[in-house]
Amino acid sequence: MFTCVVCGNSRVMMGDCPHCGTSDLPIADTDTVTINLELGSPTTEEALDVLTAHIRSAGDLKIRTLVVIHGYGSTGKGGSIKRMVRDSLEKNFFADRVDEYIHGEDLAHRNNLYLDLVKRRPSLKNVFKSFKEGNPGMTILLMRH
Ligand SMILES: [Zn+2]
Repeated sequence: MFTCVVCGNSRVMMGDCPHCGTSDLPIADTDTVTINLELGSPTTEEALDVLTAHIRSAGDLKIRTLVVIHGYGSTGKGGSIKRMVRDSLEKNFFADRVDEYIHGEDLAHRNNLYLDLVKRRPSLKNVFKSFKEGNPGMTILLMRH
């Protein structure tokens, strides 16, 4: 999905290239990136840092859609990361980069919101094959460009 501008190897969006070590941003051959904020069981603060870094890089790379997996639950880590993501969006922390956001649970199978979204962002159809629409553990960010 991403190619190193220095060595040409494929790599992930964030961090230095694992092949040549450059910190230059890679080339994206996708317009949609999925991030899982639960990976590595971070604290809520660490998850916010990861989210912020991904939103910045995605903006720089002209990624159009970020699918944020944050888990859910009324208690525990899943719940607190979800609240952090939703709160930071509602407080417009990322308004310079994020144009709109959609709560996973609002996307019922083939409802109007779902149909409108996949029309505007066709690559999300593939994402929804692995993460069921209607999943309250995700939020979809439509980036500003
Ligand atoms: Zn490289």
